[in-house]
Amino acid sequence: MTDDRTKLLIVDDLPENLLALKALIQHDDHLIFQASSGEEALGLLLEHDFALAILDVQMPGMTGFELAELMRGTEKTRHIPIVFVTAANRDHNHAFKGYENGAVDFLYKPLDVCAVRSKVNVFVDLHRQRQQTQRQLVALEESRRQQQTLLTELQATKVDLQNALRMRDDFMSLVAHELRTPLSALSIDIQVRQKHLEKGNASFFGPEQLSGMFAKYRRQSQSMTRLIEDMLDVSRIRNGKLSIRPSTTDLSRLLERLVGDFPRQDSDSVISLNIEPGVTGFWDEFRIEQVVINLLSNALRYGAGKPVEVSLHATPEAARITVRDWGIGIAPDAQQRIFEQFVREANPAAHTGLGLGLYITKQLVEAHEGSITVDSRQGEGSIFTVTLPLGKVEQTQA
Ligand code: ADP
Repeated sequence: MTDDRTKLLIVDDLPENLLALKALIQHDDHLIFQASSGEEALGLLLEHDFALAILDVQMPGMTGFELAELMRGTEKTRHIPIVFVTAANRDHNHAFKGYENGAVDFLYKPLDVCAVRSKVNVFVDLHRQRQQTQRQLVALEESRRQQQTLLTELQATKVDLQNALRMRDDFMSLVAHELRTPLSALSIDIQVRQKHLEKGNASFFGPEQLSGMFAKYRRQSQSMTRLIEDMLDVSRIRNGKLSIRPSTTDLSRLLERLVGDFPRQDSDSVISLNIEPGVTGFWDEFRIEQVVINLLSNALRYGAGKPVEVSLHATPEAARITVRDWGIGIAPDAQQRIFEQFVREANPAAHTGLGLGLYITKQLVEAHEGSITVDSRQGEGSIFTVTLPLGKVEQTQA
């Protein structure tokens, strides 16, 4: 607990004088320090913050005036009001020069009880007021600082908000554009076929045409579904609602199945597998599938028709999946950027995504406490590496 009593210093070489003065100014709110010489007083003055120093003028060694002189020359003690106690008459008061402007006063022996108390009270009140003003100044400065911090935060939030709004607008126009393209193609296709139907052009509706037509419709609807799934995932990620439901998963089998069933669409690339058998861990199968599909689709899309290799290896702690292509590669400065939202690097390969695939992939991998990296050279291809900690594997009942 802090002692908030006002500190007073009394200096006199005679103990009986100190005792008498102390008795006069004693008060519950005062903490009185005594010194019997100027030297002793200086030590106390440097250590404490006094509201007032009452100095006996006539002291052997350092006189009260000399002590006051030293106090005025020191930064810490310069502003301490001084009351001199002197037996001399008023005419000698000017002996103490240069303090006309300072808070200096005199008390005359024999001490008058009322005069002593009233003088001390004046200086104690002054000191309290000064302390209060000081506290208010500190509080004011603190609140000004807080205001400044708030203002800075507010400005940063405003910039974030503007960025978020711009991103949302960009996102909406991107989505609209991406959906409009296949939808208008579909709509034109339907109109053309309807015309043929009205004109009775049966040749447009033979088994071969119908099968091609349905394959095309399926591709279009799949790409639109993917867009919508991606948008939903991004919104889940943004709201922190992307949940994973891990269970014991045989990753080797999962990869074999995925690659076996993978729709090649327009790509002639061969996908080769280099899979360590029996790599099992605690993962969300559906989400890991999504990760591999994204990497594989990109490898086929940007792989320049060259082979693509999917490998799986395990350490005692983690599984490592790599998807490698020998396609167009990625410029060094783009290699980190591609994991951000809406990043689609300009390249000659046609793409159908929103630039969300790798962003979602990274979030899904990180939701499994894993990591994803890319190693790529332009014109030489890319290697995407996903490392997934095995997690706790469920004990299967015998
Ligand atoms: P999208 O959803 O459009 O496919 P992604 O987030 O999957 O977007 O990829 C972002 C960008 O990263 C792509 O536009 C492409 O420029 C680049 N990229 C991704 N994978 C590869 C790859 N295997 N080879 C070359 N570039 C790639």
